[in-house]
Amino acid sequence: MATPMSFDLLVVGSGASGLAAALSAERAGARVALVAKDSVQSCNSAKAQGGIQAAFGEDDSPDIHAEDVWRSSHETADRRLVEVLTSEAPDTIHRLEELGVEFTRENGGYRLARCGGATRRRLLQVGDRTGHAITKALREALEASTAQIFPKSPLHELERSTGGWRARCGEHVFDAQTVVLAAGGRCFREARERGELSTNHPGATGEVTRIALELGAEARDLDALQYHPNGGAWPATMQGYSIPETTRAYGATLLNAEREEFTDPLGPRDAVAQAIFDEVDAGRGVETPDGRPAVYLDTTRIAERDAEISLPYMLRRYRAAGIDPLAEPILTYPVLHYQNGGLVIDEQAETTLDGLYACGEIAGGTHGRNRMMGNSLLECCVFGRRAGRAAAEKARA
Ligand SMILES: Cc1cc2nc3c(=O)[nH]c(=O)nc-3n(C[C@H](O)[C@H](O)[C@H](O)COP(=O)(O)OP(=O)(O)OC[C@H]3O[C@@H](n4cnc5c(N)ncnc54)[C@H](O)[C@@H]3O)c2cc1C
Repeated sequence: MATPMSFDLLVVGSGASGLAAALSAERAGARVALVAKDSVQSCNSAKAQGGIQAAFGEDDSPDIHAEDVWRSSHETADRRLVEVLTSEAPDTIHRLEELGVEFTRENGGYRLARCGGATRRRLLQVGDRTGHAITKALREALEASTAQIFPKSPLHELERSTGGWRARCGEHVFDAQTVVLAAGGRCFREARERGELSTNHPGATGEVTRIALELGAEARDLDALQYHPNGGAWPATMQGYSIPETTRAYGATLLNAEREEFTDPLGPRDAVAQAIFDEVDAGRGVETPDGRPAVYLDTTRIAERDAEISLPYMLRRYRAAGIDPLAEPILTYPVLHYQNGGLVIDEQAETTLDGLYACGEIAGGTHGRNRMMGNSLLECCVFGRRAGRAAAEKARA
């Protein structure tokens, strides 16, 4: 067996939640190790495009944001976690700015979009590469810190030991007083097993959740998986791509084969996805050239200026594939995207097991059974920071 390396705290995962947790623990004075399954850059967080929610609008507040989350979750979210999420959102944005994230601005303020299920314009963006910008800033700050980073070191065994935990990650063995699980969801594996497409990166396979469950940690809503309403359906190179929900925020509508609108484009995610499934099941969908079901997303309704500022990456990708979304509607169909549920946590992101923390997509409760767009990156940053701080404090005690 490899000689164990000793740290105050081990973080499992290098997405936004793991990076935020490791950074806040290191800043609280802890000796931190972070392991990633593959390269440090490989994660869902870096793929996130649309944006991150925070109540900055003059007609908005953290309470209104919390009500939107509660309603979109169909009153299944954990209200204590929702309150933490929305009340710490504005401050979280300022912290990200301190790390170098430049949110898109206009008229002296943030450019805010209204996303599905929201009653206010609340979505901040960095063009349509928001997750890339956030993870880059967090990663650069962590790389400049004393934390040690171990890529290609998948956690495969975790057990209690005297004074904390022993973890086997690839060829390494770690002893740590506290552990933060930030290993994301399982939609890549789930989609593969169902023979479906997924927006997720190949590391989203869920084995860390299984390890925690085997140790006795409690979970909730694990069966509640989310379909992104707008997976790319055609051309083939865009299949599985998540067309940013901001297309609909900036005016795109959903049309059936008769080019009729059939649903509120700014409804909650599950409602919009279900409306598309129902329309296709009723025989009012269209077929892609390779025989897949689809409906039209009428992106021609988006103003050119909005598209250029908030959707440049999407435009570039479609145009490179030979389709101009501002000149013709694009074909779309829901695609497996997000694990709504996960490990039960408290407000400090501690699981039901002492000294074991969880944050980001691996944790449940914040979104209940239906997450709103833009609240996952927020959850990663808010609860990642809390997890790191609390785990560092417990390691010191
Ligand atoms: C295409 C796409 C677009 C999205 N757009 C948005 C958006 O606009 N706004 C928004 O809020 N949310 C968005 N989301 C959702 C959001 O990005 C993710 O839910 C969130 O970033 C998950 O972060 P995370 O840190 O929990 O997990 P991830 O970012 O997935 O990171 C998980 C990490 O855990 C590691 N890992 C996994 N298993 C192991 C193991 N056994 N051992 C060690 N490490 C392991 C992985 O290697 C990875 O580093 C989007 C998601 C996708 C896929």
